[in-house]
Amino acid sequence: MKTTLITGGNGGIGSAICVAMAQNGYKVVAAYYSAEKEQAQLWQQALREQGVSIEIVGGDVTDYESAKNMVGEAVLKAGPIDVLVNCAGITRDTTFKKMKPDEWNAVINTNLDSVYNVTRQVINDMLDSGFGRIINIASVNGQKGQFGQTNYSAAKAGLHGFTMSLAQETAREGITVNTISPGYISTPMTQAMSAEVLDAIVGSVPVGRMGEPEEIAHTVLWLASEKSAYVTGANIPINGGLFMAA
Ligand code: NDP
Repeated sequence: MKTTLITGGNGGIGSAICVAMAQNGYKVVAAYYSAEKEQAQLWQQALREQGVSIEIVGGDVTDYESAKNMVGEAVLKAGPIDVLVNCAGITRDTTFKKMKPDEWNAVINTNLDSVYNVTRQVINDMLDSGFGRIINIASVNGQKGQFGQTNYSAAKAGLHGFTMSLAQETAREGITVNTISPGYISTPMTQAMSAEVLDAIVGSVPVGRMGEPEEIAHTVLWLASEKSAYVTGANIPINGGLFMAA
């Protein structure tokens, strides 16, 4: 049985990924933000009542030592990580002319530095075992940019640069590294947006609706499969046609 670690595991998209992986035979460890332990325990309990068994570990992905301890605890609970999904992320939207250093730094640290902090802890075990799947959750706004999101778009575009480079470094060792770039998905992150903005966004999506977290989880499962060994360094758009590139 393969083990998967999902950062932001109890968030909107992370939860759907955890459930899909658990229901498809993976041992699942969800990493939650350490400050939200009680919330994560309630989430774990609710899933247990639905027959879905998930281990949880706490940590702050912006902090290298915390990420190291978090992954160490995950390995103790479930064994070496075969599939890592880097899903933790935040937004702090504002136009660049008003953006404060803490708004820039928080978004870069949580969405980009985190991927170094966590992936660095699992890569050597993957290299030793000759198998690994690293799946980075970026965003359509890292591909096309977005008004009010210089910090977020920079972090998410950087994430795919990381994907392409690490994919080249590890391709001969049975490890694939890929990015998924979701469009607008119904989760607490987008529920925080005003109804007016959401309506305008939905109106611009060719498919004519928001995406569902399960639609992201479906592609994570596909990338994690042993049969997807020839897919690496890719950036897979799941955006309802909002952004199309050749
Ligand atoms: P959520 O806010 O529901 O989930 C984000 C998760 O990241 C939460 O569980 C949060 O924990 C966790 N997190 C935040 N900061 C830290 C930290 N310092 N250390 C550890 N964990 C942390 O958002 P979504 O599920 O919507 O987003 C998941 C990913 O998908 C993100 O990377 C996001 O950028 C990306 N994405 C989302 C889109 C959408 O439309 N929803 C579109 C494109 C990309 P807590 O809640 O406890 O703070």
